[in-house]
Amino acid sequence: MDIEMASTHGGRGEQLSSLALRCAERLSVPFRDFYRELITPLIYEGRPMPDVRGIPVNGTVDGMLQAATIWVKAMNSLMDRSDLRRATLLPWRQSLAPRALVRTHRAWCPVCLHNFALQEKTVYEPLVWRVADVVVCPHHRVRLQVQCPHCGRGRQPSFGASTRVGCCRGCGKWLGRLIPEEATTIDELDTFLSRSVEDALSLSNVSDEIDLVSSEIAVRALRDVFWCGSSSQMGRALGVLPSQVVHFAAGTFPAPLHLFVRASYATGASMEQIFASNRFDVKASAGREPHFEVKRSVPRRLQLGADLVMRLNNALADGGKQSVGAVAAALNITGTTVWRRERELASRLAQMHAEYAGKETRAQKEKYRTEVIAFITACAARGITPGRRQVDKECGGVGRFSSDWKRAVIKDAMRQVAMLPKRTE
Ligand SMILES: [Zn+2]
Ligand SMILES: [Zn+2]
Repeated sequence: MDIEMASTHGGRGEQLSSLALRCAERLSVPFRDFYRELITPLIYEGRPMPDVRGIPVNGTVDGMLQAATIWVKAMNSLMDRSDLRRATLLPWRQSLAPRALVRTHRAWCPVCLHNFALQEKTVYEPLVWRVADVVVCPHHRVRLQVQCPHCGRGRQPSFGASTRVGCCRGCGKWLGRLIPEEATTIDELDTFLSRSVEDALSLSNVSDEIDLVSSEIAVRALRDVFWCGSSSQMGRALGVLPSQVVHFAAGTFPAPLHLFVRASYATGASMEQIFASNRFDVKASAGREPHFEVKRSVPRRLQLGADLVMRLNNALADGGKQSVGAVAAALNITGTTVWRRERELASRLAQMHAEYAGKETRAQKEKYRTEVIAFITACAARGITPGRRQVDKECGGVGRFSSDWKRAVIKDAMRQVAMLPKRTE
């Protein structure tokens, strides 16, 4: 298949799931069919195929675990290539801890997407947006978005039945656009982290041949060069428990991404020095002494619980504009789950939203009534009696009546206008 992995420059190479979506688009088939007809047979080569109904809602096809290996193999064979590992984090298997490294849901920079489309470049989603710690776009200084601005759907999976690159998995609308200046300040360290991850990915994105330095060797080198071989000094400087540094250096388990980013920030060592050349320039070192807070990883299950409580509380503080259903959609979970997990908050929100919706409906009716009267009056002044459908269309409706109250409003208004004294020319 004649389609190239997209990239604007080094560390901004395409993620595998984005490439898969573009392949389906190129073949002009819904993603579901692409997956069923072309990918599944390759994944289950020689083994009995399961009855494929849904599409795997699995973001980790871009990661470094089994799903990525399987998909790389299938896509390589489909596209007659051998280098698609570089569209995933697989090359980092020996260098970074897999835990919480990859986002299971999508994140995107709306300005990047907008620019890809505007410059008639390939619209794609870079691998860097898959790295969980990357929360800002360093090129546009905006936060990566995780929730559709049109329909509010959040926690979006990589794949859907007929989804396209750069579009929402809920409503299908385009996610690239210019967003207004955000009031939220962008943290310097967040920007540094995003840039570092791009630097790191530029090592593995461009060529498939790169041999990255494994985690324990990288940790030992940093510790020995910058902290005189002391794990406890290094741990204290980087906000990591010294006992953990000992384990990272011994290779008991690989170190997490944030340890290397913090080390780079504190010492000025580049990702290329840490993971490729191992040659450090101590004299030119940054010598920053930032205070990193100790990072404790929160299990995903608890993270969702915390997000849910926060969103429910925000919705309550917002006066009940959002329904329980909208909160659920934002987290891509069902309403039932919200009720099961947070019954008390959910029922308070439901009550508040009902009140809000009632008020909103009354306000809407009032606005409609005012517009109808104004229109009918204007018509009457010209001696015209408009039809009900026409009135509705003129007043923001679609000319079809799904509810009786509009008819009643129009009838009332007609009567009222007829009773008004005729304007004399
Ligand atoms: Zn951007
Ligand atoms: Zn949407």
